[in-house]
Amino acid sequence: MALLVMACSTLLGWGVSIATPTPQQHRAAVPLMVASSGSHTISSSSNVHTGKPVVIVAGGGIGGLCTALVLQNMGYEVRVFEKAKEYRPFGGPIQIASNAAESIRRIDQEVYAKILDASTVIGTRTNGLKDGISDEWFATFDLDSPARKRGQVSSVVIDRPVLQEILLEKVGSAVTKGTEVVGCEQVGERVRVHLSTGATVEGDMLVGSDGIKSRVRDVFDPSRRDPVWSGYTCVAGMAYCVPHDIKDVGYKVWVGSRKYFVSVDVGGGRIQWYAFLNIPPGGITQEQRDDTLGWLKRDEYGDWAADVQFLLDNSPTDEVEQRDLFDRPPDLSWANGRICLLGDAAHPMMPNLGQGGGMAIEDALVLSQEIAKLNLAPDAVPDGTPRRNLPLALQNYQKNRVLRAAAVQGLSRVSSAFLFQYQPPLDIEWGFPPKIKNTGPRSLITRACQGFLQNVAFPLQFEFLFSFPGRIDPEVFDAGCAGDFGTPEASSVSQLRAAKSVDQIGAVEKEFSGAVSGGTKGVKEWLDKYW
Ligand SMILES: Cc1cc2nc3c(=O)[nH]c(=O)nc-3n(C[C@H](O)[C@H](O)[C@H](O)COP(=O)(O)OP(=O)(O)OC[C@H]3O[C@@H](n4cnc5c(N)ncnc54)[C@H](O)[C@@H]3O)c2cc1C
Repeated sequence: MALLVMACSTLLGWGVSIATPTPQQHRAAVPLMVASSGSHTISSSSNVHTGKPVVIVAGGGIGGLCTALVLQNMGYEVRVFEKAKEYRPFGGPIQIASNAAESIRRIDQEVYAKILDASTVIGTRTNGLKDGISDEWFATFDLDSPARKRGQVSSVVIDRPVLQEILLEKVGSAVTKGTEVVGCEQVGERVRVHLSTGATVEGDMLVGSDGIKSRVRDVFDPSRRDPVWSGYTCVAGMAYCVPHDIKDVGYKVWVGSRKYFVSVDVGGGRIQWYAFLNIPPGGITQEQRDDTLGWLKRDEYGDWAADVQFLLDNSPTDEVEQRDLFDRPPDLSWANGRICLLGDAAHPMMPNLGQGGGMAIEDALVLSQEIAKLNLAPDAVPDGTPRRNLPLALQNYQKNRVLRAAAVQGLSRVSSAFLFQYQPPLDIEWGFPPKIKNTGPRSLITRACQGFLQNVAFPLQFEFLFSFPGRIDPEVFDAGCAGDFGTPEASSVSQLRAAKSVDQIGAVEKEFSGAVSGGTKGVKEWLDKYW
């Protein structure tokens, strides 16, 4: 049957079946055959009658919901299929870094305002790395200046369920929960998506935002390599307490050999913490699982800074979670015809920079920009819907995103690798005679990296991270935002595209010359028409 499906879709256009179908998925694929003979009704939201392009989104995480939001705002009909039966009412807070916040602002001003309202600002305080044992600052970084000089807000933290709720208020009606995308194929200018319920839906394009274990990804990578273990497992918990330095410090990473401990103020007298440990997947014993807090306090962080102990002491056991961390090497292929990947499905990364969700939000913005540009394409269909050119938009989206995402994946890995090799740095106690402490090779490397991290690597990193989304593209955002200017090149390209024929290029300027010769009245009329 699978062969038949492939043969049929090849005949109709070109098609790729996702994964090896389980018996249930085989059943899901059967209607395709029947449908083509006209005797089975495919559950499909066709755009043929409404004229609105239909976008199917696999996965309703941050990436999927932001994609739904921006495309819905553009007038597209969006259908999100989410595997989970219910959104979890709990889950740790997430940093919305300045670049991510600015992307949300451009996606939806109302959502942006609500997110800022519900979050805690950390970017304006001191953030950085501390030595786990001595509790001394190793390096700090400035999150505020690179954001402020671009007119962005400082990085904030928000509870995931609150973020989800804000997004769902806008796009919840487009989400079908408890439904997994199990397969997809392209048939002519349509994409056909198979669901775990046995139904099949059709649309103009499919966005695979189904996370690190994406099934849509199989279209691009049928060999289906597993994600790579990052070298760490992560235990996360919430401490209910107010540390002494709360007014001055937002985000701290205590570093030690092959382990680190992160704390971030998430507001309301709560501190989210993460313990990163070099333990392989499945390496935590049942005993450690039964008393996770005791194990961390005693065996992993027993001789660490008092603040680490303070956080562990004030954390309820039932809010502690553990997960092994995986990522993938950067991948440059995210778009195939009318199907594309987005978020963790395209570029899973280590959480060190707190940018995984941010990259998914940026993806959604760029995808929408590329689709919006189609409206200006000369062969856009008469009602302005750019269906025919969607594959081109997805290719452009891929082109615009892969390098930046690969760089952030790389930076996240490098930062994790640095923390992996960390040893308390070489230290000299000045006296007579001077006493030299920590003389091992890793301690020397650590000390050598210190100035470079503080003065070069961190500033460059945040300049790069916050350089997105940059100036508003006038081709896409007609109205623009206060303080945003398009480049002259972009404006002339936009004018060229807007012109209906070659001799119309420069017509506005010619009219202006005529208006000037007509005196004040002429100029006023010209201004009324074009300003
Ligand atoms: C410890 C930790 C801390 C982090 N902190 C931050 C941070 O502070 N800031 C930040 O920006 N990022 C952070 N991240 C990364 C961030 O969580 C992810 O990058 C982000 O959630 C990716 O969003 P996504 O929508 O692409 O994927 P996901 O959040 O994984 O969402 C995918 C969704 O698809 C659903 N799904 C899966 N398969 C299917 C299918 N076949 N059909 C239908 N639905 C499906 C899933 O149920 C899920 O809801 C952190 C990650 C970790 C592990």
